Amino acid sequence: MGVIWVLADYRNGKFLPATIENLAFAQVLKDRTGHAVHLIVPGPADDAALESIRGYEADAIIVLDTDALTHFTPTAAISALNALAETEGRPDWILLVHTHRYYDFNPRLAVRFGAEPLTGITRVDWNDEGPVFFKEVFYGKFVVRMKPSGQGPFLVSFQPGTFSVDDARTGTGPEIRRFSIAPSETGRRTYIATHAPERKGVDLTTADIIVAVGRGIGKKENLALVEELADVLGAALGSSRPIVDAGWLPYEHQIGSSGVIVSPKLYIGIGISGAMQHTVGMKNSKVIVAINKDREAPIFKLAHYGIVEDLFKVVPALIKKAKELKEQGML
Ligand code: FAD
Repeated sequence: MGVIWVLADYRNGKFLPATIENLAFAQVLKDRTGHAVHLIVPGPADDAALESIRGYEADAIIVLDTDALTHFTPTAAISALNALAETEGRPDWILLVHTHRYYDFNPRLAVRFGAEPLTGITRVDWNDEGPVFFKEVFYGKFVVRMKPSGQGPFLVSFQPGTFSVDDARTGTGPEIRRFSIAPSETGRRTYIATHAPERKGVDLTTADIIVAVGRGIGKKENLALVEELADVLGAALGSSRPIVDAGWLPYEHQIGSSGVIVSPKLYIGIGISGAMQHTVGMKNSKVIVAINKDREAPIFKLAHYGIVEDLFKVVPALIKKAKELKEQGML
């Protein structure tokens, strides 16, 4: 029996939802291959966080328990994973989250393990031979299909939102093993500090609902309208790039190829045309609602629900309805 490593993305005492999403895929891979699923936590994690993830089905949770990984660095992580592989054997699959933390880590890990890297995957299909991976290139203009063949290990990194947390099976309560190791290599970079941007509201990457505003809002003063809708829905406020370029909202609100990639349960796009640089950042949202007065706007190709109307008529009506529902305890 082989092994699938799911490398957890663990920060500030919490596992990112994308870790659970990748676990959902690992469970399917296990069903097809019979390999065991080991969730690897790169760095010390506290017991409460480990308990929070222990509810999911896996064969083991292995914590790389070393101070060298209190702050993640690629070299220390690769060294620790190498030590783990020397003790327990090499995995057949290594699954990661495609976030900035891993951009310069994935290729180096692949080289060290002689693994075939498939990075930035956004979709998986299955055929008789196994999984087929899809990756978008040139801001989503083209889609590349890739099929792993021959001997593993295979290293696959998935964009957040590729799978759903809701698909991850719960239940086996895997044992937690702490693998104590002093990595033999720490690299030539030293972690100094992380400077988190000041966030006015909710983090877009973890928000269940996002109300996103585009150039159709017209002027900065009108933002109050969409902010009110976001407030009443308990949503995070996102935006297209022109809103940020104009200085109407700070950068952390920007969704898209040069902003954040989001996959909320509900995305409401208001006065956003749906340029590919924007949609590449939100198209994995579970339900997409678009409000735009131009029925030809490309966002309607993606939208599950489209409202062709002036946003200044629609948004006040939505706020009114949402307030009514809230008063009735239905929202
Ligand atoms: P527009 O395209 O101008 O659309 C405004 C929409 O509002 C129109 O469809 C219009 O019909 C509608 N509208 C106007 N008035 C009303 C009204 N009263 N009621 C209802 N609807 C109305 N963009 C991003 O969003 N994120 C990125 O990360 C990003 N990265 C980029 C990176 C590069 C290298 C480049 C070149 C571009 C990038 N862009 C990005 C910009 C992108 O190409 C688009 O220009 C941008 O997404 C358009 O924003 P928008 O939809 O708000 O504006």
